[in-house]
Amino acid sequence: MSTTPEFWTQIPGDGRAGANSRALFNAAQFVIPGGVNSPVRAFKAVGGDPPFIRAARGPYLLTEDGVTLVDYVGTWGPAILGHAHPEVVDAVCRAARDGLSFGACTAGEVEFAELLCRLVPALKGGMVRLVSSGTEATMSALRLARGFTGRSKIVKVDGGYHGHADFLLVAAGSGAATLGIPGSEGVPAATVADTLTVPFNSAAAVEQVLEQHRGQVAAVIVEPVPGNMGCVPPRPGYLQELRDLCTREGVVLVFDEVMTGFRVALGGAGQRYGVIPDLVCLGKIVGGGMPVGAYGGRRDIMQHVAPLGPVYQAGTLSGNPVAVAAGLATLQILARDDPYAALEATSAALAAGLSARAAKAGVPVVMNRVGAMFTGFFRAGEVHDYDDAKASDLGAFAEFHREMLTCGVYLAPSQFEASFVSLAHDAAAIDHTLSAAEAAFAAVARRYG
Ligand SMILES: *Cc1c(COP(=O)(O)O)cnc(C)c1O
Repeated sequence: MSTTPEFWTQIPGDGRAGANSRALFNAAQFVIPGGVNSPVRAFKAVGGDPPFIRAARGPYLLTEDGVTLVDYVGTWGPAILGHAHPEVVDAVCRAARDGLSFGACTAGEVEFAELLCRLVPALKGGMVRLVSSGTEATMSALRLARGFTGRSKIVKVDGGYHGHADFLLVAAGSGAATLGIPGSEGVPAATVADTLTVPFNSAAAVEQVLEQHRGQVAAVIVEPVPGNMGCVPPRPGYLQELRDLCTREGVVLVFDEVMTGFRVALGGAGQRYGVIPDLVCLGKIVGGGMPVGAYGGRRDIMQHVAPLGPVYQAGTLSGNPVAVAAGLATLQILARDDPYAALEATSAALAAGLSARAAKAGVPVVMNRVGAMFTGFFRAGEVHDYDDAKASDLGAFAEFHREMLTCGVYLAPSQFEASFVSLAHDAAAIDHTLSAAEAAFAAVARRYG
């Protein structure tokens, strides 16, 4: 099988695991726990074996069974330009030829940090530190918030996911939500004793917790638009209320923009909603498909990070030249082309088209969308928090997912994940998706007969 350019002009086909994917998955399960290197890839929530992916271009994946799929996972967010964007791939190849990693200072990381501080409102006039994943970014930002304030408690949102650090695996979303693991085995009770949780979209709940634990809360961490309980927009005013409460109580407000950064606007949710946190965490798009995370913000806080200050944080591969090249090229393209109006239009048309087809089939679906991230919840009524999301019909979602895959459309394999539109999703990809959805909703409609 070749991965020559022809494959992306092939019509999307039945993407359910074929003989090659099934053989690979069998082999994988013997040597890798569950056959996967991250739980949600196992398709547990939707059933069936996962297709193995051989290559990707633009909005399309090519499976090991030789089938093309329209992709809305986008490597869980990073692929905003579409897969294998030529400028990004060139930048990576150029960097790789000069050495994969030095563990020493490079010009690229300075240019990258300067660009981040120009684009992301929370970083303006502040500082940023590069790490290698979103998990590291949130973990490090919260250690810093604790070091800066001398307090130990952290407030997070039910269904909010901030990576897999021990103390954040409490009422966590994403794979943890799908698998129904409230936290995780192996996390000592003492480790989560200082983690307090509140429902999303209720500033009153945060106010109450901050009053109950006055002077003890170091940080409130929130995905400004949660994507790991499925996509849930913040209510008007909610983020500003969090900002005001944190300022009043001397609490560090941390926006986990690992998913929303460069996704819901060039400057992320901070820019879209006009609310500036004290610290921001980045990941996913910031690495353009390579392992990069970042955390940063107020200069007086960041000055506590080692070697400038007493809060330790380090990384052998942090800011390595190949990953930085991918991230830098991606962000430079986004800053140069400012494609967010076009992305918004494509995403709005897709979401409206999906909603219309669900309605026509008589399937209750709540379509939540912010910019180029969306989730269709299989339920009636609105979804404002994790409890609302959990009231979805997971069986209907699983069937819809299966039908879409059969018709050549690869959606996030869980009700509690967002799907992503990229700049490479053209009319052909969207049209294919909508006709697939028509058939898929018709199949799901039989459940409501
Ligand atoms: C994906 C994600 C993380 C974790 O990032 P990794 O790179 O997977 O460690 C953290 N927070 C949010 C909001 C995410 O979406």
